[in-house]
Amino acid sequence: MDKNKQASLQMKIERTMRALAKNKIPAVYAPTSQDALKAVEGMMREGDTISCGGTVTLRETGIRDLMLSGKYTFLDREAMDPEEVYQKTFSADVFLTSANAITEEGQLYNVDGRGNRVAAMIYGPKKVIVVAGINKIVRNVDEAILRVKTTAAPPNAMRQNMGTPCQTLGTCVGCGGPMASGCSTDTRMCCHYVVTGYQKTPRIHVVLVGEELGY
Ligand code: SF4
Repeated sequence: MDKNKQASLQMKIERTMRALAKNKIPAVYAPTSQDALKAVEGMMREGDTISCGGTVTLRETGIRDLMLSGKYTFLDREAMDPEEVYQKTFSADVFLTSANAITEEGQLYNVDGRGNRVAAMIYGPKKVIVVAGINKIVRNVDEAILRVKTTAAPPNAMRQNMGTPCQTLGTCVGCGGPMASGCSTDTRMCCHYVVTGYQKTPRIHVVLVGEELGY
C-alpha cells in the first residue's frame, strides 16, 4: 500500500476509534489477528461461560480455537442444540461476534436472519466483544446498509448455499431501497436491522483488527 493510502487508512481508523469512544463503546486497535487474539484473551477470565454469533472473523483470527481451548465453558452451537445455546447465551459471561459494519461516526450496524445474534448484542450476556477487520469500516449508516446488501450478504449466502436472490445475483434485490428492503424467501438472512449508536455502560467492547476479515 502506498504512503498516501496508508495515511488515509490510519486517519480512518483513528476517526472510527475516537467516534466509538465518544459513543461510550470502548475500542482497542489490534494491528494483526495475533494481537486481536491476545486482546480477546485478556478480556475473558478462565471459567467464563462464553458464546458467539456465527462469524467467519472469529475463525480467521484463531479466536474460535481459543474458545474451544477448554479454558472456558463454551456454549458451542455447532456441538449443542442451537436453540438451547441461544437461550443459555442470555446469561453468559461473554458473547463474541463480529459486526456487519462499523461507521466512522462510531456506530455498529448488524443485520440478522434469526435475531439471536443481535438480541445477545443488545441485552443479556455481561460482556460483548465485537471483533472486526478494517474492511468493516464505512463512513455512515447509509454506507453500512449498502455494505450489507452488496458486500456482506451475497458471499455469505454463497458460503452457506442459502438459495437467496443475492446468491445468484451477487447483490441484494433491495439494493438502493430503504434499509429493510429485500427478498421474500424463507431463507432470507436479513430480517432484523440493528444500529448501536451509544451505550450508557461499557458492555460492548470492540477489537478493531488491522486486517481484512470476514464479509
Ligand atoms: S434481503 Fe434477501 S436478497 Fe437481500 S441481501 Fe438479504 S438475503 Fe440477500
